[in-house]
Amino acid sequence: MSSESRCSSCGIPLKGEKSVDFKCPSCANVVMGRCGNCRDQSAKYICPECGFQGP
Ligand SMILES: [Zn+2]
Ligand SMILES: [Zn+2]
Repeated sequence: MSSESRCSSCGIPLKGEKSVDFKCPSCANVVMGRCGNCRDQSAKYICPECGFQGP
């Protein structure tokens, strides 16, 4: 990984095997990340590009 990615929900830098990143399921223009904590809690994320909300 060249650039540092951050959790889209809480903003902490992503590291560790529990964190994931994925493209926005709606626009696919943005790569968003989630840390292990937010995965466990099913925290919401919002795409900055198209406004898509998920988990
Ligand atoms: Zn998080
Ligand atoms: Zn999007």
